[in-house]
Amino acid sequence: MFPFPINLLTLRQFFKKPDLTAEEAEALLESKREKIANPANSEEFVLSRVGRELYEAFYLGYTLKQWGIHPRDLAPSVCGRIPVRLNTDERYVDHKYQVTPADGFTEMFRKMIDNPNIELRLGLDYKEIRQQIKPEVLTIYTGPVDEYFDYKLGRLPWRSLHFEFKEEALEFAQPCVQINYSNDFDYTRTVEIKHVTQQKHPYTVISYEYPRAEGDPYYPIPRDVNKQLYDEYKLLADTETKENNVYFCGRLAEYKYFNTDEVLERALNTFNLIKERYEHK
Ligand code: UDP
Repeated sequence: MFPFPINLLTLRQFFKKPDLTAEEAEALLESKREKIANPANSEEFVLSRVGRELYEAFYLGYTLKQWGIHPRDLAPSVCGRIPVRLNTDERYVDHKYQVTPADGFTEMFRKMIDNPNIELRLGLDYKEIRQQIKPEVLTIYTGPVDEYFDYKLGRLPWRSLHFEFKEEALEFAQPCVQINYSNDFDYTRTVEIKHVTQQKHPYTVISYEYPRAEGDPYYPIPRDVNKQLYDEYKLLADTETKENNVYFCGRLAEYKYFNTDEVLERALNTFNLIKERYEHK
Protein backbone atom coordinates (compact mmCIF):
# COMPACT_ATOMS: atom_id res chain seq x y z
CA MET A 1 0.00 0.00 0.00
CA PHE A 2 1.15 3.48 -0.88
CA PRO A 3 -0.16 6.91 0.11
CA PHE A 4 -2.07 8.50 -2.77
CA PRO A 5 -2.18 11.16 -4.28
CA ILE A 6 1.55 10.90 -4.90
CA ASN A 7 3.43 12.86 -2.23
CA LEU A 8 6.84 12.80 -0.61
CA LEU A 9 5.92 9.71 1.45
CA THR A 10 4.83 7.86 -1.71
CA LEU A 11 8.09 8.73 -3.45
CA ARG A 12 10.21 7.60 -0.49
CA GLN A 13 8.40 4.27 -0.36
CA PHE A 14 8.13 3.71 -4.13
CA PHE A 15 11.77 4.49 -4.91
CA LYS A 16 12.99 2.93 -1.64
CA LYS A 17 14.67 6.14 -0.48
CA PRO A 18 13.44 6.61 3.10
CA ASP A 19 15.35 9.85 3.66
CA LEU A 20 14.40 11.62 0.43
CA THR A 21 13.97 15.38 0.94
CA ALA A 22 11.59 17.61 -1.00
CA GLU A 23 14.49 19.02 -3.07
CA GLU A 24 15.81 15.54 -3.87
CA ALA A 25 12.28 14.43 -4.73
CA GLU A 26 11.95 17.30 -7.19
CA ALA A 27 15.28 16.36 -8.81
CA LEU A 28 14.22 12.71 -8.92
CA LEU A 29 10.88 13.53 -10.53
CA GLU A 30 12.62 15.86 -12.99
CA SER A 31 14.82 12.95 -14.08
CA LYS A 32 11.74 10.74 -14.53
CA ARG A 33 9.49 13.26 -16.31
CA GLU A 34 8.95 12.88 -20.04
CA LYS A 35 9.47 16.19 -21.76
CA ILE A 36 6.11 16.93 -23.28
CA ALA A 37 5.54 20.66 -23.69
CA ASN A 38 1.76 20.72 -24.08
CA PRO A 39 0.19 17.51 -22.84
CA ALA A 40 -2.82 16.76 -25.03
CA ASN A 41 -4.31 13.90 -23.03
CA SER A 42 -4.22 12.26 -19.59
CA GLU A 43 -1.34 9.92 -20.46
CA GLU A 44 0.89 12.75 -21.64
CA PHE A 45 -0.14 14.83 -18.67
CA VAL A 46 0.91 12.20 -16.12
CA LEU A 47 4.09 11.22 -18.01
CA SER A 48 5.15 14.85 -18.10
CA ARG A 49 4.41 15.25 -14.41
CA VAL A 50 5.80 12.07 -12.80
CA GLY A 51 7.24 9.79 -15.51
CA ARG A 52 6.38 6.30 -16.73
CA GLU A 53 7.00 4.16 -13.63
CA LEU A 54 4.57 6.07 -11.43
CA TYR A 55 2.14 6.40 -14.35
CA GLU A 56 2.04 2.64 -14.81
CA ALA A 57 1.87 1.92 -11.08
CA PHE A 58 -0.87 4.37 -10.14
CA TYR A 59 -2.72 5.74 -13.16
CA LEU A 60 -2.80 3.51 -16.22
CA GLY A 61 -4.66 0.49 -14.82
CA TYR A 62 -7.01 2.54 -12.67
CA THR A 63 -7.95 4.83 -15.54
CA LEU A 64 -8.54 1.93 -17.95
CA LYS A 65 -10.79 0.32 -15.37
CA GLN A 66 -12.64 3.48 -14.39
CA TRP A 67 -13.39 4.75 -17.88
CA GLY A 68 -12.96 1.74 -20.16
CA ILE A 69 -10.86 4.17 -22.21
CA HIS A 70 -7.09 4.54 -22.51
CA PRO A 71 -5.66 7.61 -20.70
CA ARG A 72 -4.32 8.83 -24.06
CA ASP A 73 -7.94 9.20 -25.19
CA LEU A 74 -9.02 11.24 -22.16
CA ALA A 75 -8.58 14.97 -21.60
CA PRO A 76 -5.50 15.98 -19.52
CA SER A 77 -7.86 17.30 -16.84
CA VAL A 78 -9.08 13.79 -15.90
CA CYS A 79 -5.82 12.59 -14.35
CA GLY A 80 -4.87 16.23 -13.79
CA ARG A 81 -7.58 16.45 -11.11
CA ILE A 82 -5.28 14.58 -8.77
CA PRO A 83 -2.55 16.68 -7.12
CA VAL A 84 1.10 15.61 -6.87
CA ARG A 85 2.87 16.98 -3.81
CA LEU A 86 6.44 17.25 -2.62
CA ASN A 87 5.40 17.50 1.02
CA THR A 88 3.90 14.93 3.36
CA ASP A 89 0.29 16.11 3.01
CA GLU A 90 -1.60 12.89 2.31
CA ARG A 91 -5.06 14.37 1.87
CA TYR A 92 -6.88 13.81 -1.40
CA VAL A 93 -7.52 17.44 -2.33
CA ASP A 94 -5.80 20.74 -1.61
CA HIS A 95 -8.69 22.76 -0.20
CA LYS A 96 -8.09 24.65 3.02
CA TYR A 97 -11.45 23.61 4.45
CA GLN A 98 -12.38 19.97 4.03
CA VAL A 99 -15.72 19.14 5.61
CA THR A 100 -18.92 17.23 5.14
CA PRO A 101 -22.32 18.63 6.15
CA ALA A 102 -22.70 18.47 9.95
CA ASP A 103 -25.52 15.92 9.84
CA GLY A 104 -24.57 14.33 6.51
CA PHE A 105 -25.71 14.87 2.93
CA THR A 106 -29.06 13.10 3.36
CA GLU A 107 -30.03 15.51 6.10
CA MET A 108 -28.79 18.46 4.08
CA PHE A 109 -31.00 17.51 1.13
CA ARG A 110 -33.93 16.74 3.43
CA LYS A 111 -33.73 20.25 4.84
CA MET A 112 -33.37 21.80 1.39
CA ILE A 113 -36.68 20.34 0.25
CA ASP A 114 -38.50 20.81 3.54
CA ASN A 115 -40.67 23.73 2.48
CA PRO A 116 -44.42 23.92 1.88
CA ASN A 117 -43.73 25.47 -1.55
CA ILE A 118 -41.82 22.39 -2.67
CA GLU A 119 -43.65 19.38 -3.96
CA LEU A 120 -41.51 16.36 -4.59
CA ARG A 121 -42.46 13.73 -7.12
CA LEU A 122 -40.23 10.71 -7.34
CA GLY A 123 -40.10 7.64 -9.54
CA LEU A 124 -41.42 9.50 -12.58
CA ASP A 125 -40.03 10.05 -16.02
CA TYR A 126 -39.81 13.82 -16.48
CA LYS A 127 -40.76 13.43 -20.13
CA GLU A 128 -44.06 11.84 -19.18
CA ILE A 129 -45.13 14.74 -16.99
CA ARG A 130 -43.39 17.55 -18.85
CA GLN A 131 -46.58 18.75 -20.52
CA GLN A 132 -48.46 18.91 -17.21
CA ILE A 133 -45.89 21.12 -15.56
CA LYS A 134 -46.40 24.76 -16.37
CA PRO A 135 -43.70 26.77 -14.62
CA GLU A 136 -44.86 30.11 -13.30
CA VAL A 137 -41.40 31.57 -13.63
CA LEU A 138 -38.77 29.17 -14.86
CA THR A 139 -37.40 25.64 -14.91
CA ILE A 140 -34.08 24.42 -13.58
CA TYR A 141 -33.14 21.19 -15.29
CA THR A 142 -30.45 19.00 -13.75
CA GLY A 143 -30.84 15.79 -15.79
CA PRO A 144 -28.70 14.71 -18.76
CA VAL A 145 -28.70 17.43 -21.42
CA ASP A 146 -28.88 14.96 -24.34
CA GLU A 147 -31.96 13.34 -22.82
CA TYR A 148 -33.68 16.74 -22.47
CA PHE A 149 -33.39 17.21 -26.22
CA ASP A 150 -34.47 13.63 -26.96
CA TYR A 151 -30.95 12.76 -28.13
CA LYS A 152 -31.61 14.65 -31.34
CA LEU A 153 -27.91 15.34 -31.95
CA GLY A 154 -26.85 11.87 -30.80
CA ARG A 155 -26.07 10.35 -27.43
CA LEU A 156 -23.47 11.77 -25.09
CA PRO A 157 -21.46 8.99 -23.45
CA TRP A 158 -21.75 8.63 -19.68
CA ARG A 159 -19.93 6.42 -17.21
CA SER A 160 -21.79 4.69 -14.44
CA LEU A 161 -20.90 2.85 -11.26
CA HIS A 162 -22.26 -0.18 -9.53
CA PHE A 163 -21.82 -0.14 -5.75
CA GLU A 164 -21.61 -3.23 -3.58
CA PHE A 165 -21.82 -2.80 0.17
CA LYS A 166 -20.31 -5.34 2.50
CA GLU A 167 -20.83 -5.42 6.23
CA GLU A 168 -17.98 -6.66 8.40
CA ALA A 169 -18.04 -7.60 12.07
CA LEU A 170 -15.08 -5.34 12.70
CA GLU A 171 -14.63 -1.89 14.18
CA PHE A 172 -12.63 -0.97 11.06
CA ALA A 173 -11.91 -3.16 8.03
CA GLN A 174 -9.27 -1.00 6.35
CA PRO A 175 -6.75 1.51 7.68
CA CYS A 176 -8.10 4.57 5.86
CA VAL A 177 -11.26 5.87 4.22
CA GLN A 178 -10.35 4.99 0.64
CA ILE A 179 -8.10 2.44 -1.05
CA ASN A 180 -7.62 2.60 -4.83
CA TYR A 181 -6.70 -0.58 -6.67
CA SER A 182 -4.85 0.49 -9.79
CA ASN A 183 -3.77 -2.92 -10.96
CA ASP A 184 -5.89 -5.51 -9.17
CA PHE A 185 -9.56 -6.53 -9.00
CA ASP A 186 -12.57 -5.42 -11.06
CA TYR A 187 -13.49 -2.67 -8.61
CA THR A 188 -11.58 0.61 -8.65
CA ARG A 189 -11.78 1.42 -4.97
CA THR A 190 -13.11 0.46 -1.58
CA VAL A 191 -14.46 3.15 0.71
CA GLU A 192 -15.01 2.79 4.45
CA ILE A 193 -16.93 5.98 5.17
CA LYS A 194 -16.86 5.32 8.90
CA HIS A 195 -13.41 6.93 8.92
CA VAL A 196 -15.15 10.19 7.97
CA THR A 197 -18.36 9.91 9.96
CA GLN A 198 -16.46 8.62 13.01
CA GLN A 199 -19.32 6.50 14.23
CA LYS A 200 -18.58 4.25 17.18
CA HIS A 201 -19.88 0.80 16.34
CA PRO A 202 -18.59 -2.79 16.45
CA TYR A 203 -19.55 -3.28 12.77
CA THR A 204 -18.42 -1.47 9.67
CA VAL A 205 -19.48 -1.21 6.00
CA ILE A 206 -17.18 -1.15 2.99
CA SER A 207 -18.38 -0.09 -0.46
CA TYR A 208 -16.87 -1.55 -3.61
CA GLU A 209 -17.11 0.55 -6.80
CA TYR A 210 -17.45 -1.25 -10.12
CA PRO A 211 -17.34 1.03 -13.17
CA ARG A 212 -20.02 0.39 -15.80
CA ALA A 213 -20.90 1.62 -19.30
CA GLU A 214 -24.62 1.08 -18.62
CA GLY A 215 -26.70 2.39 -15.73
CA ASP A 216 -27.48 5.77 -14.21
CA PRO A 217 -25.19 8.47 -15.62
CA TYR A 218 -22.61 9.43 -12.98
CA TYR A 219 -19.71 10.84 -14.95
CA PRO A 220 -19.43 12.78 -18.19
CA ILE A 221 -16.44 11.41 -20.12
CA PRO A 222 -14.02 14.30 -20.75
CA ARG A 223 -12.53 13.97 -24.23
CA ASP A 224 -12.60 16.05 -27.40
CA VAL A 225 -15.32 14.26 -29.37
CA ASN A 226 -17.67 14.40 -26.41
CA LYS A 227 -16.90 18.06 -25.82
CA GLN A 228 -17.77 18.82 -29.44
CA LEU A 229 -21.11 17.07 -29.17
CA TYR A 230 -21.81 18.75 -25.83
CA ASP A 231 -21.00 22.16 -27.33
CA GLU A 232 -23.73 21.56 -29.92
CA TYR A 233 -26.20 20.67 -27.18
CA LYS A 234 -25.06 23.76 -25.28
CA LEU A 235 -26.25 25.94 -28.17
CA LEU A 236 -29.66 24.31 -27.94
CA ALA A 237 -29.62 24.72 -24.17
CA ASP A 238 -28.77 28.43 -24.43
CA THR A 239 -31.66 28.96 -26.81
CA GLU A 240 -33.92 27.04 -24.46
CA THR A 241 -32.84 29.32 -21.61
CA LYS A 242 -33.57 32.43 -23.66
CA GLU A 243 -36.86 31.31 -25.13
CA ASN A 244 -38.35 29.09 -22.44
CA ASN A 245 -36.54 30.05 -19.24
CA VAL A 246 -35.03 26.62 -18.75
CA TYR A 247 -31.75 26.76 -16.81
CA PHE A 248 -29.35 23.84 -17.16
CA CYS A 249 -27.33 23.19 -14.05
CA GLY A 250 -25.03 20.45 -12.77
CA ARG A 251 -22.84 17.55 -13.86
CA LEU A 252 -25.46 16.00 -16.12
CA ALA A 253 -27.05 19.13 -17.54
CA GLU A 254 -23.69 20.77 -18.29
CA TYR A 255 -21.71 17.62 -19.09
CA LYS A 256 -18.97 18.75 -16.71
CA TYR A 257 -16.94 16.72 -14.25
CA PHE A 258 -17.81 18.92 -11.25
CA ASN A 259 -16.71 17.91 -7.77
CA THR A 260 -19.24 18.15 -4.96
CA ASP A 261 -17.95 21.53 -3.78
CA GLU A 262 -17.92 22.82 -7.35
CA VAL A 263 -21.43 21.62 -8.00
CA LEU A 264 -22.70 23.38 -4.88
CA GLU A 265 -20.95 26.55 -5.98
CA ARG A 266 -22.43 26.17 -9.45
CA ALA A 267 -25.92 25.77 -7.98
CA LEU A 268 -25.52 28.88 -5.84
CA ASN A 269 -24.17 30.87 -8.80
CA THR A 270 -27.09 29.77 -10.96
CA PHE A 271 -29.47 30.79 -8.20
CA ASN A 272 -27.82 34.22 -7.90
CA LEU A 273 -27.87 34.73 -11.65
CA ILE A 274 -31.58 33.94 -11.79
CA LYS A 275 -32.26 36.11 -8.74
CA GLU A 276 -30.51 39.07 -10.33
CA ARG A 277 -32.33 38.62 -13.60
CA TYR A 278 -35.72 38.51 -11.94
CA GLU A 279 -35.05 41.25 -9.43
CA HIS A 280 -34.38 43.60 -12.32
CA LYS A 281 -37.54 42.71 -14.15
N1 UDP B 1 -6.85 8.17 -11.06
C1 UDP B 1 -5.92 7.18 -11.22
N2 UDP B 1 -5.51 6.47 -10.12
C2 UDP B 1 -6.00 6.68 -8.89
C3 UDP B 1 -6.97 7.70 -8.71
C4 UDP B 1 -7.38 8.42 -9.81
O1 UDP B 1 -5.46 6.93 -12.32
O2 UDP B 1 -5.58 5.99 -7.94
C5 UDP B 1 -7.30 8.91 -12.25
C6 UDP B 1 -8.48 8.18 -12.90
O3 UDP B 1 -8.46 8.41 -14.29
C7 UDP B 1 -9.65 8.86 -12.24
C8 UDP B 1 -9.16 10.31 -12.20
O4 UDP B 1 -7.76 10.20 -11.90
O5 UDP B 1 -10.83 8.70 -12.96
C9 UDP B 1 -9.86 11.17 -11.18
O6 UDP B 1 -9.77 10.56 -9.92
P1 UDP B 1 -10.79 10.89 -8.72
O7 UDP B 1 -10.39 10.06 -7.56
O8 UDP B 1 -10.87 12.37 -8.56
O9 UDP B 1 -12.14 10.33 -9.33
P2 UDP B 1 -13.65 10.42 -8.77
O10 UDP B 1 -13.59 10.49 -7.28
O11 UDP B 1 -14.26 11.63 -9.43
O12 UDP B 1 -14.25 9.14 -9.29
